[in-house]
Amino acid sequence: MVATFSWDDGHPLDLRVASLFNRYGSKCTFYVPKNNSENLPTLGVSDLKTLSNDNFDIHSHTLNHLYLNKLSLERQAFEIKSGKAYVEDAVGKRDDIFCYPGGKYNAKTIDLVRDAGFLYARTVTMGFECAYSSNNWLMPTTCIIGPLTNFQILKHSLKRLSLRRGVTIARINNAIMNKTWKPGSDNFHQSRFYHFWGHSWEIEKYNLWEHLESLLQILISADVEIVSNQEFYDRKIVCEPSRSI
Ligand SMILES: [Zn+2]
Repeated sequence: MVATFSWDDGHPLDLRVASLFNRYGSKCTFYVPKNNSENLPTLGVSDLKTLSNDNFDIHSHTLNHLYLNKLSLERQAFEIKSGKAYVEDAVGKRDDIFCYPGGKYNAKTIDLVRDAGFLYARTVTMGFECAYSSNNWLMPTTCIIGPLTNFQILKHSLKRLSLRRGVTIARINNAIMNKTWKPGSDNFHQSRFYHFWGHSWEIEKYNLWEHLESLLQILISADVEIVSNQEFYDRKIVCEPSRSI
């Protein structure tokens, strides 16, 4: 079994996430904008340089954390390319993975992301156990580490026209929030791939640091390999929806 974690928005509390993951020798991946248009603080270049090491990968989340589906093509291209250049300059490494702010994109966005040179892009689609999807630029996830409202779950169900998907997401999310989630708790698959994601500011806001630590402990004690997003995607395992918790 393999798991990966991604943290969005480049909030300064990402440093606390990093110190928790360091304590367990586990890898994780951060998606950072230079500025956050939603009035949240962001890590500076010197923080990104410190954060970027063998265990922690930094990738792009646009320049200003704007929802791309609402922008002109030119502005989308600017946000995508400038965000990539910002991360590459800050950490001195090629940035191959993009993450859509708010999971928002339109028909043209995916082309722009691909044309900017990204090999993969992560969405906020949930309810999947996978390392790979049929579209490199629409990578789904398993579940957010944070509270989900019934309305948000309903939106996910309607988007996919799948009530069952909504039920699956709700079950996984409840289990994480109740610290009862366990890997491989059914017999459908021998090999499982989990992608957890979240925002460090939400972990703080909803007091979920213990939940996160307990999730890490559960994965480690079940011998689940914890890898970076890049290593996860490079496995090229085809995605499939989670069937249960
Ligand atoms: Zn974001």
